[in-house]
Amino acid sequence: MKVKIQVIIESDDGRIQDVEEVACLKRGTLSPEELGLNLAEAKEILQSVQRSMAVHQVADYTAERINCPCCGQRRVQKGHHPIQFRTLFGKLTLSSLRLHQCDCQTTPGKTFSLLAELLPERTAPELLYLEAKWCTLLSFGMTFELLQEVLPMSEELNVTTLRANLHKVAVRMESELGEERQSFIERDSQSVSMNLMPEPKPPLSVALDGAYVHAAGNEQRKERWFEVVVGKSITSSGDGKYLGFVLDYDEKPRRRLYESLQSQGLEMNQPVTFFSDGEDTLRQLQMYMTLQSEHILDWFHITMKLTVISQMRKSLMGAEPAAWLGEIEKDLESLKWHLWNGNGDQALRLVDELKTMHDGEQISAERLKLLRTIRDFGNYIADNQAFIPDYGDRHRNGERISSAFAESAVNQLVSRRMIKRQQMHWTKRGAHLLLQVRAQVMNDDLRNTFRRWYPGMNAASEDPLSRAA
Ligand SMILES: [Zn+2]
Repeated sequence: MKVKIQVIIESDDGRIQDVEEVACLKRGTLSPEELGLNLAEAKEILQSVQRSMAVHQVADYTAERINCPCCGQRRVQKGHHPIQFRTLFGKLTLSSLRLHQCDCQTTPGKTFSLLAELLPERTAPELLYLEAKWCTLLSFGMTFELLQEVLPMSEELNVTTLRANLHKVAVRMESELGEERQSFIERDSQSVSMNLMPEPKPPLSVALDGAYVHAAGNEQRKERWFEVVVGKSITSSGDGKYLGFVLDYDEKPRRRLYESLQSQGLEMNQPVTFFSDGEDTLRQLQMYMTLQSEHILDWFHITMKLTVISQMRKSLMGAEPAAWLGEIEKDLESLKWHLWNGNGDQALRLVDELKTMHDGEQISAERLKLLRTIRDFGNYIADNQAFIPDYGDRHRNGERISSAFAESAVNQLVSRRMIKRQQMHWTKRGAHLLLQVRAQVMNDDLRNTFRRWYPGMNAASEDPLSRAA
């Protein structure tokens, strides 16, 4: 049997304008491989339909615009020239009519290209969307292979184009970010009576964390790694938004965080709890975001540091007097207890006693190392004393005490895409731009951003791939 596939072009009034055969498929005895279309045929048909449709659409568009839209006078033509346009179903070479500006315009006689004006970007929005999305989920090379395998776009796709287009999308997002500020607390908001505000919404929790990625560059490069910051904010009902940036590339980290909170519907009288690991740079970023903010040293980081000390102590068993080690153990336990109850002063007093234990005596290098680690921990607590709440009390009240909810941020935003393989090296700009698009993909926002840019694009609900991540 033969199966013919035709494109039939009908005008608005129902007249058939053109019939074009785009494929003729031959089938013999039915076999599983020959039931329906195969991928190669589907790609060819899509490409042919795309060409046929586009040619007719362009012809229609051109015919409509030969006359001046202002005065209706026919404009003078000045030949055609080809325009390349990349689509999901192949690269199109379209014939664009060059016209002289009408006499009624401010620059009469000047020529312009109809399609160049209509298509300032030479990539279809939907293709740009798919490329950007998959480049954040897979490596550039894998994205290339995936798209090339399933779509009829083999001849023009390459990794350089993919990277350039991803950056283009991210740069456009960046250009929409408002200006950086030291404080996002409105000046007059403090005088607004909170009584007039509606009942405050339940608190938002925010945590930022750092991760390191390999730096691209030559052998003499000074920095082999650089830091990316990722974070997550979460509502009381558990809806989370990710954000990420390269700390010493980003010029607007505070604005970025602020906009992320805004996207979760932050209100002026809504409390926000910021968790930090005790590092001052990240904490500073979180200051002056909103009026009702609370800053807390992450309990998880405290226990992590205590666990390290505890393991050092254990490794000394046998080598150091058991009584001494037992005393240390007891003190470490009460240290943790004091911190849990928010008694920073008492915790620090204990550290003071611990670190001076057997001061002046001739002690082993290992013991010295343990005492130094305890001293460092003391400094950490002293630096962060203002941010140590009564964790026990919070815990009993069902309030968050750790940034565990944001732990997935490093994995989601960075590890899976940027440090999965050792040979992945990044420029700061490249990493930062990728993070912007990846965060939107993780937050399920990318499709909406594209719809805002290109209102004709389908909604997310109509996109069967939007949940594929
Ligand atoms: Zn005119």
